[in-house]
Amino acid sequence: MEGVGELRRWSPGEGLGQAARRYGSSGVPVLPCHHPAIILGPGRLRGLACSCGAAACQAPAEHPVPARWVEEATSDPGRIAAWWRQQPGYNVGLLTGGAFEVLDVPARLGEAALRRCGIRKLAGPVARTGNGRYHFNVTAIGMTNGFVPSQPGAGRSGVFWHGEGGWVIAPPSRHVSGEACRWLQTLDAPLPTAHLVLRELLDARDGLAHDAALGAAAAGERAAGDPAGPSRSLSWPLAR
Ligand SMILES: [Zn+2]
Repeated sequence: MEGVGELRRWSPGEGLGQAARRYGSSGVPVLPCHHPAIILGPGRLRGLACSCGAAACQAPAEHPVPARWVEEATSDPGRIAAWWRQQPGYNVGLLTGGAFEVLDVPARLGEAALRRCGIRKLAGPVARTGNGRYHFNVTAIGMTNGFVPSQPGAGRSGVFWHGEGGWVIAPPSRHVSGEACRWLQTLDAPLPTAHLVLRELLDARDGLAHDAALGAAAAGERAAGDPAGPSRSLSWPLAR
């Protein structure tokens, strides 16, 4: 990494600071997050990486800037305005656990669930992130942050629950892929219960597994294992 530049004029439509203030005005605690930055490499080839500058960043352009971000997240308009005056390119993070929690779902499962939800009109606020995952906002039930547990030996499910004291990247934040996070249904849509969305996801997963089994049978071979795919058994916390 030879240099990190700031992205300019990369925010068509509503600006990041404007969106942050709007979330705050509706009572949602906001926090500034790192953002994509232009990297000048050997031969001055350009790429995008996290503005934190860490070569091994685990969540590029998706992690909070303040070290004590849970305490610093706020809906105060003056504080929010000051953050984005300091750095207009900050991505926008929202604190989870108070007003809502978020199910963070892989693309294939999210798309399948939305096809079902579109028919049944069960989906509340839903965002598609810049890296292609889906965020289903649900009523808060006090879940801790982490991957939805899989059954013994099944590995991680690929579904992450942003619960009490967590955060999510919100539109119009930018990903290092160059894609923006955007709302499919905005945050002012009524929040569904977590159980309702989980049941939709279960049905969608079962549908994908059924399709995969049919495809494998037609090909005369057993479907290959996919660590994040629908063929794995998930232990959904429906009993909570
Ligand atoms: Zn970073």
